[in-house]
Amino acid sequence: MISLKDSTVKLTGMSCQTVFAIVVAGSIYQSFDKPLVITSANDGHHSKNSKHYRGDAIDIRTRHLTSEEEQEIVTQLRHCLGRDYDVVQESNHIHIEYDPKRRD
Ligand SMILES: [Zn+2]
Repeated sequence: MISLKDSTVKLTGMSCQTVFAIVVAGSIYQSFDKPLVITSANDGHHSKNSKHYRGDAIDIRTRHLTSEEEQEIVTQLRHCLGRDYDVVQESNHIHIEYDPKRRD
């Protein structure tokens, strides 16, 4: 199951790369038999230049996970999403952003 925390979560202008990250995260959470809850997207109070305001970042809930599950989910997210995404383990959520890297 994939859901939004509540109606304050705004998906306006989400990039297709971010939608892909949601699909991947939903599949990984499902494999742990846990719901994926998106707690923030293009909303909230993020830092001034946050990718949240460009539709390139989401935050997902972790409080219903054990620390072992959370660690394994972060590992799988990084593996599945690859180098163009940053998966950041915050104290009370996982932040995922699309951040394409230069290729020279
Ligand atoms: Zn975030």
